[in-house]
Amino acid sequence: MDESFIDRKYRLHLFQYLDKSPEFIGTAYKPKWHLECPMCGAKKATMVWCPDLSTYKFFCSKTNRRACGISCQFPVLLKVWNPPLYLMYLDEREAEGTAGAGWNVPKASTMYPNRRVQSPLGWHRCQVQDQPRSAPEQGSTDPS
Ligand SMILES: [Zn+2]
Repeated sequence: MDESFIDRKYRLHLFQYLDKSPEFIGTAYKPKWHLECPMCGAKKATMVWCPDLSTYKFFCSKTNRRACGISCQFPVLLKVWNPPLYLMYLDEREAEGTAGAGWNVPKASTMYPNRRVQSPLGWHRCQVQDQPRSAPEQGSTDPS
């Protein structure tokens, strides 16, 4: 399990959006959740950590006929579910140096070179109880 600080933040943001809290059904080494599909609301969608990909895979419920049936990696889920949030995610990944060639997300700056950069998602919208913040905040160093 090697979830990045950024992935964790956006995963928790997604989880907080859902009406029903995701149910943890995995292990510490292979975290897995049952959750509502953020796209179609189907119960028992699944999100599972894939160590070889260093990201999550999301699977909408296949048992419900009305379910959207989407299956994709976490960044794609963000893109489909909430495009503005996805762009913020890309910005943070690029700032961290984990976007572009060899990574599972493109660089936002090459996709949208003329776009105004939005401020990153703040922690105040994601209250996290079970683990203290350990990484330094982006942009907290004073340039002057
Ligand atoms: Zn769905």
